[in-house]
Amino acid sequence: MSRLLLRRLPTRALVHRPSHAVRTYASSTPAVPQFNWEDPLGSRNLLTEEELAISETAERYCQEHLLPRVLQAYRDEHYDPKILQEMGELGLLGATINGYGCAGVSTVAGALITRAVERVDSGYRSSMSVQSSLVMGAINDFGSAEQKDKYLPAMAKGKIIGAFGLTEPNHGSDPGSMEAVAREHPQKKGYYLLKGSKTWITNSPIADVLVVWAKLQETGKIRGFLVDRKQCPAGTLETPAIKNKTGLRASITGMIHLEDCPVPKENMFPDIEGLKGPFTCLNSARYGIALGVIGALEDCIARARAYALERKQFKGNPLAKYQLIQKKLADATTDAAYGTLAAIQVGRLKDEGKATPEMISMIKRQNCDRALHNARVLQEIFGGNAVSDEYMIGRHVANLYVTQTYEGQSDIHSLILGRAITGVQAFV
Ligand SMILES: Cc1cc2nc3c(=O)[nH]c(=O)nc-3n(C[C@H](O)[C@H](O)[C@H](O)COP(=O)(O)OP(=O)(O)OC[C@H]3O[C@@H](n4cnc5c(N)ncnc54)[C@H](O)[C@@H]3O)c2cc1C
Repeated sequence: MSRLLLRRLPTRALVHRPSHAVRTYASSTPAVPQFNWEDPLGSRNLLTEEELAISETAERYCQEHLLPRVLQAYRDEHYDPKILQEMGELGLLGATINGYGCAGVSTVAGALITRAVERVDSGYRSSMSVQSSLVMGAINDFGSAEQKDKYLPAMAKGKIIGAFGLTEPNHGSDPGSMEAVAREHPQKKGYYLLKGSKTWITNSPIADVLVVWAKLQETGKIRGFLVDRKQCPAGTLETPAIKNKTGLRASITGMIHLEDCPVPKENMFPDIEGLKGPFTCLNSARYGIALGVIGALEDCIARARAYALERKQFKGNPLAKYQLIQKKLADATTDAAYGTLAAIQVGRLKDEGKATPEMISMIKRQNCDRALHNARVLQEIFGGNAVSDEYMIGRHVANLYVTQTYEGQSDIHSLILGRAITGVQAFV
């Protein structure tokens, strides 16, 4: 496969961030508006021609190339790193970054890509989000010129794989209490020694470069380090996989153990200090998740609707004829439509520099909660068949539990919003 996305799209679609002043809207309004259950509130009308083209190409790749392999990958708990290379060839990685071989598309276009990937599987989207938002985003936002030149072009092609290590065995929701530490190397000038453990880290067993957040011993401040696997002496970096997961089985997750791992000072992000570093990267990833999970929910809706129209119970009636079934579909479709509009709005504000972290907390929390709740309810429409993985819905339900948990569990986002609403801190 070659750079399919780039070839199928007009060059300007991927090279230039659409400007609000020149935005052109899709103009396919029919004479008599028709209700479309797949886009009930007409969100397509809010997208530029470029964004529609990017979305359609990403959807086509995902349906043609990811969907056929996801069932087996999920059963085997196997992640094929070639997927990142395929995505790289299509221009899907770090798509919102300008330069370094990245496409430089709008924030909304980037999230339409995550929606397309997550329509197939949240695990594939997680691996892509870590590469794009958490690692490439961190390097782009905080890296030195040398760090950007060294890593971003190869990461955009999926030839270097990244992981992002913030969570620790004893500190998940409260990363400020992290124990990982970096101290000056006692013998080797120009080096730090990193010590500590991170857990539940997407991509860590296969990552070439790991963004690790640790406290600098001399200041007590959190700093970001690029731990390059090739530079680590034997026994100083271990990244065992966490096996037998009950969700996100089509992605690979592991730990990071650093045992006095020597890291050159030039691998530290030069200026960013404190939680602002990891939280900035998390904000971008959380934005992508907010629209991504709608892709998973929309897949559940489409599959439940098709099943309800096909399956007959009582006097040969399709399940779709019953009011209780229709209510489940109406609730899920409404939440998907509202979630899409909210994510597009926040994406537009983000590109204008007007989005706040609380807005992103709000859409991440709401969309993840509603996607998980509705997927669980839609699962009921399949009756016993929902228990077979071939009906696909159980996999989405298991995955969506994880999306509600990582990158700030929903209750933690409630506390972020509660603090912003009342001015009172409830974390302690
Ligand atoms: C498959 C998977 C992939 C992941 N990938 C990554 C990754 O790539 N990089 C990374 O750094 N991390 C990753 N994570 C970790 C994830 O971000 C954490 O699991 C998450 O932040 C929650 O932390 P925790 O599991 O320690 O839960 P805890 O912090 O122990 O929380 C447990 C429960 O208590 C609640 N709680 C905690 N504190 C409070 C409070 N003050 N008030 C009220 N309720 C509270 C939480 O909301 C939650 O419901 C991943 C996790 C999974 C499962």
